[in-house]
Amino acid sequence: MTDISRRDVLVGAAAIVAAANLPAIPMQAAPAEVLPAWVVGSEGEFNWQHIIARTEREARRFFAQECGDYEEDCDHETDQDGCDCCEAIASYEAERKPMWDGAPYDSITPGDWLRSGTGHVCSRCSYETFPEEGGRGVGKEAVCEECMTLADWDIVDPDRAAEIRADMADWGAPVSPANDSTDVGSQDLTHGK
Ligand SMILES: [Zn+2]
Ligand SMILES: [Zn+2]
Repeated sequence: MTDISRRDVLVGAAAIVAAANLPAIPMQAAPAEVLPAWVVGSEGEFNWQHIIARTEREARRFFAQECGDYEEDCDHETDQDGCDCCEAIASYEAERKPMWDGAPYDSITPGDWLRSGTGHVCSRCSYETFPEEGGRGVGKEAVCEECMTLADWDIVDPDRAAEIRADMADWGAPVSPANDSTDVGSQDLTHGK
């Protein structure tokens, strides 16, 4: 009985120390465990999702589960042939997004997807766009190259904006083309380098 009460006192003291330290910890360095952020999906498809999970396999498992690819979780640590659950898990790819660690699901915007190097549908025209194809994150928006305006370039790449202005001046083109403003071909002329 003495032992128990002494341990209780010690636990209580430790808890007070921990609580006293809490306000000193900056908001961003969350004292709780920060789980890694991933994106999971199929190579070459636009089905990728942001998943927060402890391991890469767990991230793929959550995704397969959400897709309804299997009924029951198996206990296998690694992929086993002939196991429905494992095969569903193995059919997806996962990629780490360290810059999203600790960020809640609803805080990640389409713009963040492009800034993190992964494609997203354009927030303006709904076409699929990728960073390597000129898509950019502009604030919260994912913007494909065709939808990028001079005002967007001013935000994400002022040097590029200056080049575009210079090119327009060379051609004597109006800053905002009056015709075919949604035509991909004519827009390409404004940043074809
Ligand atoms: Zn399995
Ligand atoms: Zn677009």
